[in-house]
Amino acid sequence: RTTQRLDKVLSNLGFGSRAELKKKAKQGSIVVNGTVTKDPGKHVDPYTDIIEFEGETIQYREYVYLMLHKPPGVVSATEDLRDRTVLDLLDAEYRVFEPFPVGRLDKDTEGLLLLTNDGKLAHELLSPRKHIPKTYEATVEGRVDEEDVRRFAAGVTLDDGYVTLPGELLIHSHEERGDGVTLSRISLTIHEGKFHQVKRMFEAVGKKVVYLKRISMGELRLDENLEIGTYRELTEQELALIG
Ligand code: URA
Repeated sequence: RTTQRLDKVLSNLGFGSRAELKKKAKQGSIVVNGTVTKDPGKHVDPYTDIIEFEGETIQYREYVYLMLHKPPGVVSATEDLRDRTVLDLLDAEYRVFEPFPVGRLDKDTEGLLLLTNDGKLAHELLSPRKHIPKTYEATVEGRVDEEDVRRFAAGVTLDDGYVTLPGELLIHSHEERGDGVTLSRISLTIHEGKFHQVKRMFEAVGKKVVYLKRISMGELRLDENLEIGTYRELTEQELALIG
């Protein structure tokens, strides 16, 4: 394992800029393995050296894994000129890790979104070869029926000619909206992630998704207690499910 400059380690963790940390070091606010260190450029192994900053022992880690209950109205990007992004929902203590969303949900889609700075894990979860299943709950205009279940199970042809892998469609209920239109509540599991895939699969059978929420990705399920717009770190168990 390589060592890193002390000020780099601390600034990566959000404890201030290099200039600020230089000042803090001069003031004697940084202790490494029990000894006050006035040299901000001292090389340390952040995993094994015990670093204290203003009396607090710091926990070093390289990666962060967050489960976000994405609200509608924010985009799954790290930057956007017009819209708020999912990163705008994070506190500074997590933004310093520079996490990014693993895959995308449309701006109007809600639900499970994983954010991490672990590029390798993200790459594996997104690999088209792995066919990681993703389950969505949706409200669809029109009466979704057994014929749709069969068509989804066989794979449907999207507007660009692509034939999807089999998807598992479950019909939960039907109800009539005020204007007489039938609404269907369904869930759908797909094993790939083409652009707007769920919406386009329903378009292919002449129906329109009016509400969409992702509830799982692989073995990872959206925590029911996580309020919309909020996030938390994955537990060890959850990480093991996807890692
Ligand atoms: N399929 C869609 O159409 N939209 C999403 O956000 C996710 C899957």
